[in-house]
Amino acid sequence: MKGSIVLFGPPGAGKGTQANRIVSLTSKPQVSTGDMLRQAVSSGSELGVAARAFMEAGELVPDDVIIGLINQRLKEEDASSGVLFDGFPRTIAQAEELSKIAQLSVVISIEVPDESIVERIVGRRMDPETGNIYHIKFNPAPESIAHRLIQRKDDNESTVRTRLSAYHEQTSPLASWYESQGLLIKINGNRSIKKVGDDIISELSDK
Ligand code: AMP
Repeated sequence: MKGSIVLFGPPGAGKGTQANRIVSLTSKPQVSTGDMLRQAVSSGSELGVAARAFMEAGELVPDDVIIGLINQRLKEEDASSGVLFDGFPRTIAQAEELSKIAQLSVVISIEVPDESIVERIVGRRMDPETGNIYHIKFNPAPESIAHRLIQRKDDNESTVRTRLSAYHEQTSPLASWYESQGLLIKINGNRSIKKVGDDIISELSDK
């Protein structure tokens, strides 16, 4: 596959979880704007300082900040044969900018109903050493690493509701935008991690 792939879906749909398998299949690097922003916040850079309040409130970071980050990232050598976008684009403005600087092969939309999202996100934990994502009930971490797991600051119930509203108002319109371009593939994300991953891999293998 020549172009880039977009992993699309609401917060907690499993985009980050599925990204590893897609990276192994395609050798395209994962480009997660959420991870890039969290790194900027923890390094205390100017960009991180500007983004932090939006993230903690569950609101989207302004488009110009995100577009600047992506522009820089796509100039790196490993991005030359396309990347796996995770959590980007999230607005029509971001998608329009993206269409000027990268060619997309496919947009994978992982669909999960709102009722499942809160439970998924509130129980989500991350291993800071590997970046692997677990869930206290659906995908528990091995006991040997349980002590070092962390919970994202924005993974609490009230912030999730704001993130879901941002998704419905600003991000979900992108699905029909990409559908009209013939790029959208819908995957039922309300199943086991393995089943969802198997479907994604078989769709990508056909491309
Ligand atoms: P994520 O890790 O993808 O859930 O992103 C965490 C937070 O980072 C979001 O709630 C937003 O505040 C911000 N963020 C990540 N990606 C974007 C984006 N493409 N556009 C705007 N804000 C973003």
